[in-house]
Amino acid sequence: MLRRGKSEFQIKSDAEIAKMREAGLVVAETLEKLRAAVEPGITTADLDAIAERHIRDAGAVPSFKGYHGFPATICASVNEEIVHGIPRPDKELREGDLVSIDCGAILDGWHGDSAVTVGVGEIDDEARALLSVCEEAMWRGIAAIRQDNRLGDIGHAVDGYICSRGTYGNVREYGGHGIGTEMHQDPHVPNFGKPGKGPKLVTGLCLAIEPMVNLGGDETLLLADDWTVITADRSRSAHFEHSVALTADGPYVLTAFDGGKDRLARFSAGATAGGS
Ligand code: MG
Ligand code: MG
Repeated sequence: MLRRGKSEFQIKSDAEIAKMREAGLVVAETLEKLRAAVEPGITTADLDAIAERHIRDAGAVPSFKGYHGFPATICASVNEEIVHGIPRPDKELREGDLVSIDCGAILDGWHGDSAVTVGVGEIDDEARALLSVCEEAMWRGIAAIRQDNRLGDIGHAVDGYICSRGTYGNVREYGGHGIGTEMHQDPHVPNFGKPGKGPKLVTGLCLAIEPMVNLGGDETLLLADDWTVITADRSRSAHFEHSVALTADGPYVLTAFDGGKDRLARFSAGATAGGS
């Protein structure tokens, strides 16, 4: 894959952000469809087929398929699997499972990338809390994408929130990334960091924010399929992700139907748009 220079980030124009929005909406629709399809008895290969059909019907291309040889449209990671699980016809979801679904699409040359973790049927309180902590950590990170903030502010917001909620494992070996005409661009966006450190965030920068949070420790293992990442202690894990553009009005969530307006309103003191 093309790798950009160390400090050369791809800055998008408003017209390019509008194109990324179209790609982001294809991903949002796909994940909404998958969320509705998750139920006991469905296989992760079934989910993959739904995703591929939806993306291709929308005139887009699944970006994961063939990426470094990845064989499917989505990553489907169940329970102790953190990320990069390969969909399988023999992987049937059961009541109480957690399934993390990561999905990417390319439309007109521009990428969207987003992930959700969904409970299968009824899930226990511990699992519900895990999902809430991981999703809120993502929103805290997104809210830190502000002009004049620095990259470290994002990870600081993510990690600070996770730590404030109890003894969760915040996965450190994987993180977010720049996104645009490639799925993975610089900068890498760690889910931990020092406030005020790192490159400045500027208008036109687009980032995927994606915390991975474990009920146990933060250590990971790679399975023999060379893709699936699991928790070393086999504790359950969650993963949420959105692709976000930094605009003159603040963070705009390309992969959320409302652009993130609802979830970001409480952070928007000083922003021109958005509710109070
Ligand atoms: Mg992703
Ligand atoms: Mg990503």
